[in-house]
Amino acid sequence: MDLKTIQLRRGKAESLRRFHPWVFSGAIAAQSRDLQEGDLVQVLDDQGNFIAVGHYQIGSIAVRVLSFDRRNIDDDFWVERIGEAYSLRRVLKLAGREDNDVYRLVHGEGDRLPGLVVDVYGATAVMQAHSVGMHVQREAIADAIIRATEGNIRNVYYKSETTLPYKADLGQENGFLRGGSPANIATENGLKFHIDWLKGQKTGFFVDQRDNRSLLEHYAKGRSVLNMFCYTGGFSVYALRGGATLVHSVDSSSKAIDLTRANAELNFPGDTRHDAFAEDAFRYLQRAGNDYDLIVLDPPAFAKHKEALRNALKGYTRLNAIAFEKIKPGGIVFTFSCSQAVNKDQFRLAVFTAAAQSGRHVRILHQLHQPADHPINIYHPEGEYLKGLVLQVE
Ligand code: SAH
Repeated sequence: MDLKTIQLRRGKAESLRRFHPWVFSGAIAAQSRDLQEGDLVQVLDDQGNFIAVGHYQIGSIAVRVLSFDRRNIDDDFWVERIGEAYSLRRVLKLAGREDNDVYRLVHGEGDRLPGLVVDVYGATAVMQAHSVGMHVQREAIADAIIRATEGNIRNVYYKSETTLPYKADLGQENGFLRGGSPANIATENGLKFHIDWLKGQKTGFFVDQRDNRSLLEHYAKGRSVLNMFCYTGGFSVYALRGGATLVHSVDSSSKAIDLTRANAELNFPGDTRHDAFAEDAFRYLQRAGNDYDLIVLDPPAFAKHKEALRNALKGYTRLNAIAFEKIKPGGIVFTFSCSQAVNKDQFRLAVFTAAAQSGRHVRILHQLHQPADHPINIYHPEGEYLKGLVLQVE
């Protein structure tokens, strides 16, 4: 293996020795002159000892580590890592089930594949590269997905137009790398969803809310439900199955509202309990009545960066405060943050502030997080992003 090299400054190998999978650009003392974004590179400490091998990229994260062992990053490597990811999903009883064929197969650092996300919808895997290195190796990865999943995945759709660094200018296009299938209905816990992997947000669906949607189903009976930021209507469809008396879905995107309507219709044709509205969440809540007794707040990440944190926290407080103000006595609020830059305690403080402003008694019933197919590498706590609270408002 004749790899290009990055040598670290003194003392800068410590976090890598504890398996943190990133090298920051400030830690680099020297590097091969011809190093290109997306190259495989070996990382050495200041004494020249091998530390790791990974993908080089331009930016503050300079290397994303693939292995802390000295090994070739070849076809066998991809099959082995993706095979490990697949067997975890079998252990979790997500793969190979009749009533569920939606799950995350690869969750970046959580599956020791930084820069790669793969979501599965039936026989199709939708793959996203978040680094140029993963983009460069997309063909080998697509083959490995097919080989490692025992014939269960036959199509690999590549969707990286919006996730790759803009400056890399790779001219890549979205499309099938293997197979090809027009089938785009997948099943989550026995409920059917249209998945728009061609144009939808992320890989077409928010796979990470599966367990939380199930929990909501258990609270839905006899309640009137407001699902804010509904996207494809996941929470709405579970609420309908759970026996809600009424479900209103709101999203600012009219495409999302069309998808939500289609998904409600797919599972509960002609069910008049559901209605959907394309409107800004804050505007909708301001003019909403006080009739809802279950409200879901699942906004997009308010803080994409640390700098945006203060405003993001204010945003969460403002949003939750209106929900507390409006909800019926005894009502339930499911409230989430998917901002990685906002930690559990900060989010809880923002919600606490909202509760205090509303002057109502609020109890925490559940503390929610991302599901097991979005695992967190313990050496990479940055991988924890989704948090939620289920609250009862007296
Ligand atoms: N709860 C969804 C995922 C929500 S993603 C699920 O389970 O699948 C966040 C959604 O918020 C997106 O669909 C986006 O269109 C919507 N959104 C963003 N800003 C908004 C705003 N100001 N008002 C209403 N919806 C908004």
